[in-house]
Amino acid sequence: MADCVFCRIVSKQSAVELLYEDDQMAAWSDIRPQAPVHFLVVPKLHIPTLLDLEKTSDPLIGNMMRCAVQLAKSKGIAQDGFRAVFNCNPLGGQTVFHLHLHVLGGRAMGWPPG
Ligand code: 5GP
Ligand code: ZN
Repeated sequence: MADCVFCRIVSKQSAVELLYEDDQMAAWSDIRPQAPVHFLVVPKLHIPTLLDLEKTSDPLIGNMMRCAVQLAKSKGIAQDGFRAVFNCNPLGGQTVFHLHLHVLGGRAMGWPPG
């Protein structure tokens, strides 16, 4: 989608330093980090929200979770603990309507989240 910030990143129209990339997804650091480590795992396909997932998306979501774990390990936050979260729609805190998995670590996370 032409007006989608994450489509522009995965199509290389906007330059960011990628932490990971394959044919399905890419990962990069959040521009406004909410923890010492905060990165996003993002499918290349424009899927607006969790509500748009279909059965055919299952392998993609599994691969995104495994990518998140691999990057959490490589960033050194896996053993102490981290949070992986999808925000969905405005009350869920979603501001970019292209599916993405947040991974945050390097500090203690509160519960319940704000
Ligand atoms: P949401 O609020 O939709 O769950 O998360 C969107 C995230 O994307 C936010 O944490 C925001 O800081 C991040 N973000 C928005 N635009 C950009 C950008 O252009 N580059 C990067 N690296 N992160 C962005
Ligand atoms: Zn998009």
